[in-house]
Amino acid sequence: MSEQKQAQQQVVIVGAGMAGVQTAVALREQGFTGPVTLIGAEPHQPYDRPPLSKAILLGKAEDSAFDVDFEALDVELRLGLDVTGLRAADHEIDTEAGPVPYDVLVVATGAHPITLPGAEGVPGVHLLRTLDDAVRLGPVLERRHTVVVVGAGWIGAEFATAARAAGCAVTVVEMADRPLAGALPAEVTAPMAGWYGANGAELLTHARVDTVEPGRVVLADGRELPADAVVVGIGARPATGWLAGSGIALDPSGAVTADERLRTSLPDVYAVGDCASYPSARYGERLLVHHWDNALQGPRTVAAAITGADPGPYDPVPYFWSEQFGRFVQYAGHHADADELLWRGDPADETWSVLWLRGGVPVALLAVGRPRDLAQGRKLIETATAVDPGRAADPSVPLKAAVR
Ligand SMILES: Cc1cc2nc3c(=O)[nH]c(=O)nc-3n(C[C@H](O)[C@H](O)[C@H](O)COP(=O)(O)OP(=O)(O)OC[C@H]3O[C@@H](n4cnc5c(N)ncnc54)[C@H](O)[C@@H]3O)c2cc1C
Repeated sequence: MSEQKQAQQQVVIVGAGMAGVQTAVALREQGFTGPVTLIGAEPHQPYDRPPLSKAILLGKAEDSAFDVDFEALDVELRLGLDVTGLRAADHEIDTEAGPVPYDVLVVATGAHPITLPGAEGVPGVHLLRTLDDAVRLGPVLERRHTVVVVGAGWIGAEFATAARAAGCAVTVVEMADRPLAGALPAEVTAPMAGWYGANGAELLTHARVDTVEPGRVVLADGRELPADAVVVGIGARPATGWLAGSGIALDPSGAVTADERLRTSLPDVYAVGDCASYPSARYGERLLVHHWDNALQGPRTVAAAITGADPGPYDPVPYFWSEQFGRFVQYAGHHADADELLWRGDPADETWSVLWLRGGVPVALLAVGRPRDLAQGRKLIETATAVDPGRAADPSVPLKAAVR
């Protein structure tokens, strides 16, 4: 894009979370000089979400605001403003404060947590997505309440960790036969299930919530669990309801279907972060990634596309981490098509890894307390470098030395 044309382009970013903020930052880093407006529904200075279920809950940090000087970047920040619609034909979005025109629009509205049917509005029921949610949970931990966590996913495990550290009695209710059932195979989650009990949290699997009432949770099999507080962590859905009627293409999950340069089906509209899926040539399928690293990396592609540089296809090796029950858990890749699973170490130990291969080539890795495995494995996945399975299964051999 010529400098003159660029200067005329008004970029409007909807959603002031990681993906929205990083889009604004990346635009300036990549030399974009036109006006940039960043609109966010939350009233708070834009902040990072991972610390909400970790340092902030544990009282080790008060907030997690991004260290970004929006004024110095000449980014107009409009906070506490809900965007309610998109009229692509007019190149305008609607907000509670009236329409806002754009030349280029970036949809970065993230995801909303899924609520538990029947539990909405019941006193003592919490979600954990926003800073306000985390602040509301502070007194639950301080007062060492008896807590029922619904869902043994990433958020449920992290909340249970913090609540146990605070001295709460914690029961985690999981409908599936194991924790993280949607994310990892049974043989990998088996040792992880033991982490709950070892940390004094009770994990109930095959357990379906029937009703949530103030002070108790009743399960479908009739069991009653006392609960001063209930924390629901059963997943999140793309926050794209405001796009209804705009004509933008969404996939069945509600995610905006972006292309390999994160362009949407509408002209001059991009989508990035938790609200967007993209086609991965690397994995041969469309991916919807609800992790921090995707909200960091995607914006660079969007900014490059807006500034007219060819960003190349967006197809990173997905990466995330979680801190649970005193362990640092990291995952890179996507194991859906793997044909071989290798253990590195004994899952009864504090540290171990699992490596997934397809045709002898690493496609994914889960590392528990083995960050070096993660770093080296991630490179092997990125470069599709075949390994010798015998050596790769030996935890004393660095993964990079297991190359065939
Ligand atoms: C408690 C918690 C812990 C996490 N921990 C980890 C972790 O350890 N590791 C990891 O990899 N990932 C973690 N994640 C996931 C990671 O934080 C997300 O993937 C990341 O925040 C996604 O960024 P985003 O900008 O796409 O969406 P979001 O962070 O959801 O930001 C979107 C913003 O858009 C705003 N918005 C939505 N709709 C509108 C609208 N109509 N108008 C205006 N504004 C709107 C929202 O209010 C929100 O502020 C965690 C998430 C949570 C909730």
